[in-house]
Amino acid sequence: MRAINLFLGAALLVGCTTTPVTNRTQFMMISPDQEMALGATEAKKVIQSSKIDTDKVLQDRVKRIGQKIAAVSGRSDFAWEFTVIQDDTPNAFCLPGGKVFFYTGILKITENDDQIATVMGHEIAHALARHGAERMSMQTASNVGAQILAAALNIPTQYQNLYAQAYGITSQVGLILPYSRKFEHEADQIGIYLMSKAGYNPAQALKFWENMARISKSSHKPPAFLSTHPADDARIREIRKYIAQLPSTR
Ligand SMILES: [Zn+2]
Repeated sequence: MRAINLFLGAALLVGCTTTPVTNRTQFMMISPDQEMALGATEAKKVIQSSKIDTDKVLQDRVKRIGQKIAAVSGRSDFAWEFTVIQDDTPNAFCLPGGKVFFYTGILKITENDDQIATVMGHEIAHALARHGAERMSMQTASNVGAQILAAALNIPTQYQNLYAQAYGITSQVGLILPYSRKFEHEADQIGIYLMSKAGYNPAQALKFWENMARISKSSHKPPAFLSTHPADDARIREIRKYIAQLPSTR
């Protein structure tokens, strides 16, 4: 019964949305409002737990690049904010609603404004394409699916959670993990489109990811950013393709 209620509850929220630029249909169980609220809460937590960099020149530089990309994103409804955090970990991310954080660690790898725009475009693309919400939707769906199946198979209630977990693991390997590479490629494609539209040189995206690949090969302890953003041949090959596909008139 609980499974049925869950299913009905979820079914009411289920919908499909479409990604910008790539026009891919997404399965979505989270509303934009819910997603924005999550983003705002997370942003507060990040600011409270981090050291904001005091270098005003650097803050202004990242903000200027961010604003140029935000201006071509078509999301004037986002509450855009760009913050540099004093942290040697190479990392950057954009929360739903447009709160962008750059760690000083990634700014030590980027060689020029075009490469900062590469990372900026990529991270903003994840938020525009609602990748976080899509991932959460898929996880919820696989849990609901597991509970319905458990109920149908008459698995006693006390074992249903265990079953859901086991089922969740299987669905993750089959459904969710391959998606994250897909999300990465999609964020590259949208990001390169945005940086180019904002007037930055897309050839520098290739340069940046080639540098990342070199760092990843030469270092014993590759940066954390590389574990979620593998800089391998597949990525570089796709990036070349996205650059070649850009409209010739910017
Ligand atoms: Zn990414």
